[in-house]
Amino acid sequence: MTEETKNATHFGEDVFGEEAIRTYLSKETAKKLQATIREGKPLDPSIAGEVAHGIRHWAMDRGATHYTHWFLPMTGSTAEKHDSFLELKDGEPIMLFSGKNLIVGEPDASSFPSGGIRSTFEARGYTAWDPTSPAFIKRHSNGATLCIPTAFCAYTGESLDKKTPLLRSMQALDKSLKRLMRLFGREEAHTGCTLGAEQEYFLVDKEYWKRRPDLILTGRTLFGAPSAKGQQLEDHYFGTIPDRVLSFMNDVERELWKLGIPAKTRHNEVAPAQFELAPQFEELNLASDHNMLVMDTLRNVAERHGLKCLLHEKPYAGVNGSGKHNNWSVAYGGRNLLDPGTNPQENAVFLTMLCAVIEAVDKHADLLRASVAGAGNDHRLGANEAPPAVISIYLGDQLAEVVDRIERGVGGKAKKADTLQIGVDTLPPLPKDATDRNRTSPFAFTGNKFEFRAPGSSICCSGPMTVLNTIVAEAVDRIAGELEAAKVAGKAKPGEHTAAFHNALQKILQSSLKEHRRVVFNGNGYEAEWPAEAAKRGLPNAPDTPSALAALMDPKNAALFEKYGVMTKRELTSRHEIFLEEYSKRIRIEGTCARDIASEMVFPAVKAEYLETMEAFNSAEKAVVSAGTTALRESAVELGSRLDALRTGIIELEDALAGKDDKAILSSMLSLRTTVDALEKRVSASRWPLPKYRDMLFLY
Ligand code: ADP
Ligand code: MG
Repeated sequence: MTEETKNATHFGEDVFGEEAIRTYLSKETAKKLQATIREGKPLDPSIAGEVAHGIRHWAMDRGATHYTHWFLPMTGSTAEKHDSFLELKDGEPIMLFSGKNLIVGEPDASSFPSGGIRSTFEARGYTAWDPTSPAFIKRHSNGATLCIPTAFCAYTGESLDKKTPLLRSMQALDKSLKRLMRLFGREEAHTGCTLGAEQEYFLVDKEYWKRRPDLILTGRTLFGAPSAKGQQLEDHYFGTIPDRVLSFMNDVERELWKLGIPAKTRHNEVAPAQFELAPQFEELNLASDHNMLVMDTLRNVAERHGLKCLLHEKPYAGVNGSGKHNNWSVAYGGRNLLDPGTNPQENAVFLTMLCAVIEAVDKHADLLRASVAGAGNDHRLGANEAPPAVISIYLGDQLAEVVDRIERGVGGKAKKADTLQIGVDTLPPLPKDATDRNRTSPFAFTGNKFEFRAPGSSICCSGPMTVLNTIVAEAVDRIAGELEAAKVAGKAKPGEHTAAFHNALQKILQSSLKEHRRVVFNGNGYEAEWPAEAAKRGLPNAPDTPSALAALMDPKNAALFEKYGVMTKRELTSRHEIFLEEYSKRIRIEGTCARDIASEMVFPAVKAEYLETMEAFNSAEKAVVSAGTTALRESAVELGSRLDALRTGIIELEDALAGKDDKAILSSMLSLRTTVDALEKRVSASRWPLPKYRDMLFLY
């Protein structure tokens, strides 16, 4: 890094990265540690002591007095349990951090969701350092803590977190790709998955937030009549960023840069008060950890600006919700395999990968859908703004035509590039710019990567990325197996392949596409005809979380995860249980909160309004004033009957909450909301107990 960059960004200042390693460790240890990081291997125990010593000194130079293993339990957020470096030795206080403290931790696992994996008599859990994600410093107003990214497992070795399966899925994909690339005559190399996670979020003034128990407890507004102006004018998207927000963004980015997170793009999103932050893509595991830190940082910095950052998928009804686009690609030996390439060899690898992804997504659309399921995302998927709940792939016209020709087994001329034969190793030039982009597809090819758009804004990237790696590992493995069976490889020198290889590959891809082409959809995913068309094609459409999660209980999916060593059946089953339970709890919290707001805040306000109207009417009648009495009487009657409806709605919701049916809670909440939102338009603004959409949504 140049001095100029360093001074302008302080990039990586709070990360135990290359520079810190060189400064705080001996040359030999530094070399060993760097090799461990590069190859993703466990740390050599013989250097653990020195590494720990170096890390502690580095951390203390930055004001840290404590350390924590930082991990991703199944709650979906991050977890930390701090210990100080301070220890008493013969009555003398000293600062200490041992190799063992660095490598493993033993937090009590009993209060983390385990879905039946952890039995109560063995509550111990293990955290183990993941050296591929560097240690970092987390600062607070009067100190700092050293954070060691770790995986979290039960005593039995079963994973209790979101990182372990991700790391395993990367290994699975690496193994499959090595098998395939050998057939292409490529020298053995390292597989690198990359992720660029675009993060959408809302900001709201903290003073409003404080007066909205629904935002505080559930992250979304359970009531709120539409603002006269919402996103109709489309004037917010890419608009001038308000100064208050810009200074917030600046602070966020400065903190992210210090943590080595390459925050790159910032802009207004479609809904008012909605924004986006996109970092430059990084190695997948690191990018996934970094996204957790991005969410943390957004929340923390917002506080300092008198704002609250809302990461819920649907904070407001009637305007767009927030997603987290997962841009994913896979490289081998440093070359992105999803880059169409410039020569026949690269083209063939690209088309093989493309077909593998199509096959994987079609075969396991149910798993991809399950990987983004959650109470928050249910408001987004399938609504008229976000990708539909049907998982399909967008390729763009030209690539769709290439795929079409491979499927039909015809050579010939591609649309615009009329000199090229289409085979498995020839491609017309593909447009890389944004003009050919379709924003309605849940899974789109965008030039040299796939963009999975179904994940919700609050999700941890590792879930959907684990699924994607695993299903692609399976497809790549299957294709490699068929190629091996065709006995055509091996004759080829690295960098070229024979006609026999070409023909065998052509046949394999052709038959794969014949079977899986149905998942490719280049049309508008928002249009009303699509779900019917998707059903005709036999594509699954799970409209809500419980139905989406059912995929985790399918024996074929358990077999997939077991085969590729990503999750055992027990681990998968436990996840199903955890996610379902979390869903149910969230719905119940929302239902209870809605009931409380309706009966403790809205009912009294309407009652007062009613009373005041009645009194005005009575006074008018008493004074024998005829003007206005009609309006007052009609108004009182209307308020009275809406008050009755409000009470009925509250009782209905209470009944639903007493039962076991989550769907009944959701539908009672919705009908109560209709009543309350209509009342909001009838009751004096000065009396309405909740801040209104029109106030909260405009930060100017
Ligand atoms: P948009 O989708 O908003 O048009 P871009 O496509 O330019 O924006 O980039 C979105 C994200 O994709 C960024 O985080 C970027 O770093 C990331 N990205 C670009 N190339 C790759 C790649 N090969 N693998 C993974 N992510 C990538
Ligand atoms: Mg994008």
